[in-house]
Amino acid sequence: MPDASPKIDLPRREIRQLDDAAINRIAAGEVVERPASAIKELIENAIDAGASQIDIAYAAGGKSVIRVADNGAGIPAEELPLALSRHATSKIDGSDLLNITTFGFRGEALASLGAVGRLSLTSRGAGRDGAFRIRVHDGVMSGVEPAALSAGTIVELTDLFHTTPARLRFLRSDRAEAQAIGDVVRRLAMAEPAVGFSLRDITDGGAGRTILKLSRETGDFFDALTGRLRRILGAEFTENAVPIDARRDDFGVTGLVALPTYSRGSAVAQYLFVNGRPVRDKLLIGAVRGAYADFLSRDRHPAVMLNIDCPPELVDVNVHPAKSEVRFRDPASVRGMIVSAIRHTLAGAGHRSSSTVSRAALGAIRPMDTTRVYQMDRPPARNGFSETPAGFGTDFGDISARVEPDETDAQTPAQDAPLGAARAQLHENYIIAQTRDGLVIVDQHAAHERLVYERLKAQQADKGVAAQALLIPEIVSLSGTDAAMILEAAETLARCGLEIEPFGGDAVAVRATPAILGEVNAEHMVRDVLDELKDQNTTTTVMAGIEAVLSRIACHGSVRSGRRMQAEEMNALLREMEATPHSGQCNHGRPTYVELKLTDIERLFGRT
Ligand code: ADP
Ligand code: MG
Repeated sequence: MPDASPKIDLPRREIRQLDDAAINRIAAGEVVERPASAIKELIENAIDAGASQIDIAYAAGGKSVIRVADNGAGIPAEELPLALSRHATSKIDGSDLLNITTFGFRGEALASLGAVGRLSLTSRGAGRDGAFRIRVHDGVMSGVEPAALSAGTIVELTDLFHTTPARLRFLRSDRAEAQAIGDVVRRLAMAEPAVGFSLRDITDGGAGRTILKLSRETGDFFDALTGRLRRILGAEFTENAVPIDARRDDFGVTGLVALPTYSRGSAVAQYLFVNGRPVRDKLLIGAVRGAYADFLSRDRHPAVMLNIDCPPELVDVNVHPAKSEVRFRDPASVRGMIVSAIRHTLAGAGHRSSSTVSRAALGAIRPMDTTRVYQMDRPPARNGFSETPAGFGTDFGDISARVEPDETDAQTPAQDAPLGAARAQLHENYIIAQTRDGLVIVDQHAAHERLVYERLKAQQADKGVAAQALLIPEIVSLSGTDAAMILEAAETLARCGLEIEPFGGDAVAVRATPAILGEVNAEHMVRDVLDELKDQNTTTTVMAGIEAVLSRIACHGSVRSGRRMQAEEMNALLREMEATPHSGQCNHGRPTYVELKLTDIERLFGRT
């Protein structure tokens, strides 16, 4: 049994005031967790100083050397000692902690860094004749001495954590720490496209190895942002993302949001900022998830870069020593604004689906890749592509519908439409359409499902989904809890066009189903809707709940799948897709069509 008696036998110790070095070391524990967090503080200082170029170097993952040089406003000689003191800042006067427009304001970073490493600060105040340097070794400050520097500030930190060996032991390998430094620099650079950045690993001496070089981006806001994100996240992201630019009341949201079909298996590609400050905020992450919920299955995650800007008094950035968490005054309205901004933006992308889809498809069928395809790293079978690695050279003997050339000849305007003119239907599910410069393959089942879903949503928002009464109500027997659950949702389901009533015992009667679905298996629909209700958790909003139910219901209306279609019908489907937002992906975030450009096809056959 553990001893629960008070520890009276401990000798009492007198209360003592900690000395500055100890205070700084304790504060440093919160501000500077690892080399990357030191670098973050130094870069933020450089940005606050108005720098347009920031050069960063490190050795041994930042454990032995960290150096950050900038061309900002600098610090005049007489202020150098203050810069290294705790609670000394030029950024606020202390009277208004809610009006913070800079990254810094706690006046802690440099003092903390000086407490956990050997720090040298060299700077030339703007308009001053010369530069000066000050050093802190083991918490003891040197005098100010002249130094050589043409402009800006250089902070160099060596032997990080040598005074706190316990913390040193907590650091990961040099490689892991270097990785974390790279991440921090990239994240900060995303929000500052007008600032040039370079990052070098100088472990082996000399000029070192360049890890990252980002020149200043010019042009208008979105040009600069897109340019910067292309260099950091890659062209694949920027090609498959749409600019977002929305404003409601005091809040603005800008950035790039990826098409749902460019989704990821985890939330790694979500870069969120508040007034340019990188944050990891549950509210924002939840809002992004909510905005995409209608397009992605639960295990897929959207890729986004979003900056929320607002007047500083509406967000508290002072809730975390490293300032990576924030608190909004009115979280619900911030959330609502982000969700609707993203949804509007994605609706504006119309039927577009991710170009990576066709690239993946090409990768799977490209002849020179066949070894890879045949052996291990075979992409998941999707749309049947990976089953036919030899390409389109297979015989088209099983074409199930062919459109005669005179029906839609090459001159028809349909060919100029984004999804082209239908030419054939294969395997009773894939529509092949010819576009100006390539071909499109539509998964008729997936496309139809999404179109039905979008129509259901439109009806629901308008007057409620039109229901069609069954001639004879369908009786479905369920378990007691299931019956209770679905009857409890009866009102919501009625808005979705599904009318059910109690039918004694554990049975329910289905009286009507959504009219646009035509004839459906009512029992299957009820069981599917039940599954959906069980999946929903208590925090799901009514609207999200309705959409999820509609999405399930839409699966039952895919009357056109597995069915031969005539040219007219196929073309009508293509035109409806073009006119319907979000039709580029099915209800689970998979693509509804793949586009191959002629140039891709030529490459496939080694023609170019
Ligand atoms: P804070 O950023 O919270 O003010 P710091 O300890 O990071 O606290 O910096 C203290 C002060 O030193 C800043 O307020 C600023 O005036 C000055 N300073 C720090 N780094 C730089 C820099 N790179 N360029 C110009 N001034 C700087
Ligand atoms: Mg600072």
